[in-house]
Amino acid sequence: MNIVLPNKFHYKGNSRHESAVIEKEVLYIEKGTDFDEIMYQLTYMLKGRNCIYCGRPLESKRKTLDHLYPRSIGGPTITNNLAPACKNCNNRKSDMTEQEFEEFCRLNGKDREEFRKKVMRKHENARQSHGFLIPKRWFGNFSLKEVITFITFDENISKRYQKLEAFYRKYGNFDKPIVVDRNGFLLDGFGIVLFAKNKGIKEIPTIILENVQKRF
Ligand SMILES: [Zn+2]
Repeated sequence: MNIVLPNKFHYKGNSRHESAVIEKEVLYIEKGTDFDEIMYQLTYMLKGRNCIYCGRPLESKRKTLDHLYPRSIGGPTITNNLAPACKNCNNRKSDMTEQEFEEFCRLNGKDREEFRKKVMRKHENARQSHGFLIPKRWFGNFSLKEVITFITFDENISKRYQKLEAFYRKYGNFDKPIVVDRNGFLLDGFGIVLFAKNKGIKEIPTIILENVQKRF
């Protein structure tokens, strides 16, 4: 898939290897640059700094972004799935998708709780059947042996790994897809790759970003 990009973008971080640039509609990310941070910057650039739900400007100190498909159902951190949202709306929306939240807002108070429960049941069913609930068109065909990554096992990965293992034991699925650039370089999902390699799982759901390239 292609992510939504502006025409021009140039990001410079603190260190020499922290930068990103758009050239001929491709986003190049220098090694050592945080992928999520680039997605946040791009989203503010593309979608502005007003909450998409209530229209209020975001407080500059507490800029927040919403995952339109929430992380709890595997929503990735890419521009297509991010939008500026104030803290208040973000909390109210919680684990609902953008569409579900809009429907929720149209209901009156006493029907809302019932609706929320219905949504949570739907998400739970999705976990059991696929593991997550995001658009099929975002997925590409990819085999684990094509993934390029440098894994360093730290405390964060260890925690993530345990969560993943528990999810897999319960549902027999992964809780989200991995995200790779157009050359197969891993941008998100280190824990999943590690887990799949350990368990001998060859196929993992993958989002391939055709207009993103990590540069070394
Ligand atoms: Zn709002």
